[in-house]
Order: sequence, then C-alpha cells, then structure tokens
Amino acid sequence: MLLTWRRQRLVSKYRFVTSHGGTDERTTLVVSIEQEGVSGLGEATPSSLYGQSIDSTQSALREIADGQLLGDDPLRIEAILARLIERYDRERAAIAAIDAALHDWAGKRLGVPAWRLLGMAPPRVRTAFTIGMGPPAEIRQKVREAIADGYEVLKVKVGGEGDHDTLAAIREVFDGPLLLDANCAWDVDRAMKELPKLALYRPNMIEQPLPAEQWRELAKLRELRVAPIFADESCERPGDVARLAGCVDGVNIKLAKCGGIREGQRAAAVARALGMGVMFGCFVSSSLAIAQSLQIAALADWVDLDGHLLLRDDPFEGIGRDGGEIHLSERPGLGVRERAVDKP
Ligand code: MG
Repeated sequence: MLLTWRRQRLVSKYRFVTSHGGTDERTTLVVSIEQEGVSGLGEATPSSLYGQSIDSTQSALREIADGQLLGDDPLRIEAILARLIERYDRERAAIAAIDAALHDWAGKRLGVPAWRLLGMAPPRVRTAFTIGMGPPAEIRQKVREAIADGYEVLKVKVGGEGDHDTLAAIREVFDGPLLLDANCAWDVDRAMKELPKLALYRPNMIEQPLPAEQWRELAKLRELRVAPIFADESCERPGDVARLAGCVDGVNIKLAKCGGIREGQRAAAVARALGMGVMFGCFVSSSLAIAQSLQIAALADWVDLDGHLLLRDDPFEGIGRDGGEIHLSERPGLGVRERAVDKP
C-alpha cells in the first residue's frame, strides 16, 4: 500500500472565535492510500488541544509509511487500525485520516458507498450551525442568515465576557434548539455561578464548561439541571466515554479525536450502553473529513458537522445541503471528490 500526503490550506468565511482564541486559516493534511490502481483519501485535522500538530502528524505518517505498517490488504481495516493505535495512540488525527482513506478505498474498490459497507442508511442528518462570538449586531445578522439558510439548530461558543449579550441577541430572533459550548472556559466555582444564569436562554445542552482534566467535577454541574452536560475536550477515546459515565449526560465524539469511523462507532456504542447521549462534532475541515463523520452520523442525537460550511472555498465536493440537513452523494467510498479547479 502506498501512503502519501500533502498539505491543504483552508480559509474560513468568518474569523472563527472560541474561548481558546481566534483563527481564520487552517492547514489540514490530505492523506492518500493507493493499491491496485485505486486511491482512497482521508483528511487529518490535528489539534494542539490533544498535543498534535501538522508536524507530529506528518512524522507519524512518515514512520507508518517507512515501516510499511499498513500491510498490503486495505480491507483488513480493523487489524491495521489496531496496529496503528498501539504505536501512535497520541496521533489519532493521523489514524483517523488513514481510517478514512481505508474506508474510501474499500468503497471505491467494491463500488459501494462506505456507509453501505458499514450497514448504515444513506446519510442525511440535521446539523447544528455554529455562530462565533462577536458584537450583538453581528450575531443577530449571522443568526438571521442562518435561519434564512434553513438551519434549525444553532451552536454558540460561550465563556467570554459578552455571553449574555450574545445569547440575548440570539434569543431575540431564534426560538429553536440552542447548543452551548464553553470550551473549558470556567473553573468549578465560576461554572456553578454561570450555568444557572444561562438557564434564561433555554439551552438544549452545555458542552465542556470545565477544563479537560476536571471531568469529575462535571457531575456537580449536572446536578444544577440547567441543561444536559456534554464532555468534549475531556473525551477523546472510546475508553474515556466509560470513565465519564455518571459525570456527564453525553459526549461529543469527533473522529479526528478518537481515530476514525471504527473508533467512533465504538465510542458511540460505549455511550449508548451506559445510557449516555451522543453528539458528533468536527474541527474546521474540508468536506473530506466531514464525509467521514457523515458515514455514521445517524448514530448521534445531535450532529454538529458544519466545519466545511464555514469555509470560503471547500476543496472537496459531494456533501449536499437542504436547509439544515446535510446529505452525502451515492458515490462509492466516502462520497466526496476534489472539486475541479478551472485552470487559466
Ligand atoms: Mg466542543
């Protein structure tokens, strides 16, 4: 199996601000696996939150390629991933991209969409649309645009000074489901004070109010009964889901965090077995990474797969949108392909 990769530069439509900071540009890696004249593609979106970078991802990919760790049968997905997880547990963004490329390859080789190989129905899910932080007038404008575009669920980053202005501005113009994400913004005492004040805006969930390592304390916030508490930064791998049982109402599963479709399925299964809610989230990425998540997005209660919708130019195409619902093409593999670029 030939494993190669290249950098992909993505530019956001808006400057994207969370309590971690702001960014309007992002580099991801497009990973390719070739065998028998078929190539499968995946996208790596490494995150510094999990100790990863483009460099660390490329190092892992280089070692995997040099060590021929993929073997010569791309259909042995489980065995390949088990090998990679054993050696590169901290580089799960790289593993997720390889998982994507293997599923893309398998689907293309067999002539079926990857979701069909996975026993899923044609992917069509309602996604939340993220509204970044900003002045109230800008927020109202963004929310009006989102409603006009047909989005029925909004996600808002909280944890900054302007939370109440932002949320009041949203609730002036939007009555639907509202998901809040604090991205580790508060300590326990502060969160115990802030959460009850958020009840006024009728949130449908509150994601990660505390730093990642303070996951035990999330149980106290849950007892406030303001809204279901979901873990994101505290939950990377399937095993983390089990550890979080009793502390949170649900988990935000991102394939880039856990290592792809197979690990995502396991994380969702553990959550369900423990009576927990499931959300599927993403990082800012092209449609290639989003298509990977879409294969199994029907496993989630809440879907937040809007990473590609926040880009100025998406290098991949194949994900359609009807209002607030996104759906995949019936093409073999992950169902997306590189957008044809007009050459001058
Ligand atoms: Mg989050």
